[in-house]
Amino acid sequence: MAKRIVFATGNQNKMEEIRQILADTGMEILSMKDAGVCAEVVEDGTTFEENASKKASQIAKLLQEDIVLADDSGLEIDYLNKEPGIYSARYMGENTSYEKKNQALLYRLSGVEKERRTARFVCAIAAAVPDGRVFVTRGTIEGYIGWEPQGEHGFGYDPVFCVDEYDCSTAQLTMEQKNALSHRGNALRAMKKVLADQGVLG
Ligand code: IMP
Repeated sequence: MAKRIVFATGNQNKMEEIRQILADTGMEILSMKDAGVCAEVVEDGTTFEENASKKASQIAKLLQEDIVLADDSGLEIDYLNKEPGIYSARYMGENTSYEKKNQALLYRLSGVEKERRTARFVCAIAAAVPDGRVFVTRGTIEGYIGWEPQGEHGFGYDPVFCVDEYDCSTAQLTMEQKNALSHRGNALRAMKKVLADQGVLG
């Protein structure tokens, strides 16, 4: 049985969240860098699930004894026809700061009332396991776009994404509070259950 879970991301913030959520699996949790793997996978799928599966399967070819997890995530804003969606990381260009991306989104929602500012973070997690099977789960967190960036925690669009549960942005939550509610937390908890049910996790 595999002893290690390698998470295919170079994003340190995601890695911290993932380590906390997977801590109770008793497995060694590694980033690609920790596992000594360096690979760029082109995200050319049309869904979060397709991109996550492609990433996990390709990296698994390099790490055949490990469980390889990959995610693809993004922000869907209903008023903007679910933009930026699967293009969240590439919105306004990969090298544009999130300060600018968040300001641009707030500008596009100028004058829009709260009821029409609904949005969600979506995360698909794919797991490629040593016998060649690939499993995929999806998690979401519902919320709305605020009126100004708030909070210092988290990353990306967190300062403008607000949740009713706390009436604040996800950048104002602690990592534990965010993980308990988040799209990535929900998708990973679902994946832990799938892997346990399939006898892949002890
Ligand atoms: P990925 O790394 O290709 O999955 O791209 C994820 C994109 O969605 C990036 O632009 C992130 O900033 C954004 N995103 C995904 N999850 C979160 C989150 O938990 N908080 C803030 N932004 C997120």
